[in-house]
Amino acid sequence: MYNPKSTTATEFISHEEILKILDFADKNSENRPMIEHILDKASAQKGLSPLDASLLLACKISDLNERMFALAEQIKQEYYGNRIVLFAPLYLSNYCVNGCIYCPYHIKNKHIPRLKLTQEQIRQEVIALQDMGHKRLAIELGEDPVHNPLEYVLESLDTIYSIKHKNGAIRRANVNIAATTVGDYRKLHEAGIGTYILFQETYNKESYEKLHPTGPKHDYCYHTEAMDRAMQGGIDDVGLGVLFGLSTYRYEFAGLMMHADHLEKTYGVGPHTISFPRIKNADDIDASSFTNAIDDEIFAKIIACTRIAVPYTGMIISTRESKETRERMLHYGISQISGGSKTSVGGYAEKNAGSEQFDVSDNRTLDEVIRWLMECGHIPSFCTACYRAGRTGDRFMEFCKNKQISNFCQPNALMTLQEYLEDYASPETKAIGEKLIAQELLSIPHLRRQDVCREWLTKIKNGERDFRF
Ligand code: SAM
Repeated sequence: MYNPKSTTATEFISHEEILKILDFADKNSENRPMIEHILDKASAQKGLSPLDASLLLACKISDLNERMFALAEQIKQEYYGNRIVLFAPLYLSNYCVNGCIYCPYHIKNKHIPRLKLTQEQIRQEVIALQDMGHKRLAIELGEDPVHNPLEYVLESLDTIYSIKHKNGAIRRANVNIAATTVGDYRKLHEAGIGTYILFQETYNKESYEKLHPTGPKHDYCYHTEAMDRAMQGGIDDVGLGVLFGLSTYRYEFAGLMMHADHLEKTYGVGPHTISFPRIKNADDIDASSFTNAIDDEIFAKIIACTRIAVPYTGMIISTRESKETRERMLHYGISQISGGSKTSVGGYAEKNAGSEQFDVSDNRTLDEVIRWLMECGHIPSFCTACYRAGRTGDRFMEFCKNKQISNFCQPNALMTLQEYLEDYASPETKAIGEKLIAQELLSIPHLRRQDVCREWLTKIKNGERDFRF
């Protein structure tokens, strides 16, 4: 039985309810008055139910689809402005005991070198990342209780936060590790992690069990209830995601919307972020054998519908996607991207490090990504201030829902961009950035705020750094 407030996976992600939603969406995919009504509702920018969002995704009427894309773009602008937050993944270990069919780290893969970074190697990676200009990381590990116990993750977080190389610092470390216990989540929370990220991979229980035939990840309910345990352990910023291509996209989308709805209704705070990975080639993984893979058109629609359905949630796209795809998706609601990424263990400090977790389609340097973002009219941001000021979970959402967040984000984005320009940018990127900052400064709503920001920009140019940003 469907119950969004239950903490039992099969009740808040109800298979029967998803089938009903999909059937309803199918039958009404050309129902103009009904879809127009949903778009009118969505214009209030307060989000949509899983049912309404799924009907929007199924819409077959082209002018209404155009209206939907335009609305997604408008919502992105109103909540997030033209800022795009940057981060990089940091792979600590590819030891893994799971049998995931789509992932090259699966236990049966005997020919990839298994690597786990020592604390000294982590230092080298973090220094290399700081030298690029990164301030925000996503820590990635395979699941292996012997090689990658929680103590290793905690020790690594300590190392990561402790390194202050030149003007560099990692100010927010998000963590993507396998589902664990409330006690472990509490320890991660106490270690000062940013967002706890865990991709659901697929919401379809039957597909899930086939795709995860062996290992602890096989347990669908334990995996799906992970965010509940994370919340109970005190982590209030959690990041969802589906690996698109594993099951049918409309099922996944409905499941994702139900998961977001469940978190909002049960804990009063929806997901902090949603990531949009698509299945990619990797070592012994052939993406073309996944017949549910989706093309760019459907991908764009999923992203736009998500933006409309959960206006307050950050949306992430990685270097799994090409420059062209990323450029397009940024319009429809993406608010965070990775740049200059390496998906191999030790890949930042060591050019020929072990095998990648998946093929990267955007191989540009961070400097090239920053320049491109600015040329496309976006403001690259390295800001981590909300987290540093304790604006997480419902406090962040409260600000975001009142569109207050832009008052903080715009000046912070400009200041952290200025830091980047001073410390890491190429002369060409710096010249474009200086012009952009001067122009964007004038768009900060209050004159007093503009003045404060101007003072700070001068201090930054004179070498001062403030770790509150
Ligand atoms: N061990 C963690 C867990 O169990 O959730 C996850 C870390 S894994 C390094 C990060 C994510 O990469 C996975 O959750 C999966 O969605 C994604 N991934 C795995 N294989 C992939 C592939 N072939 N193409 C694209 N993404 C993939």
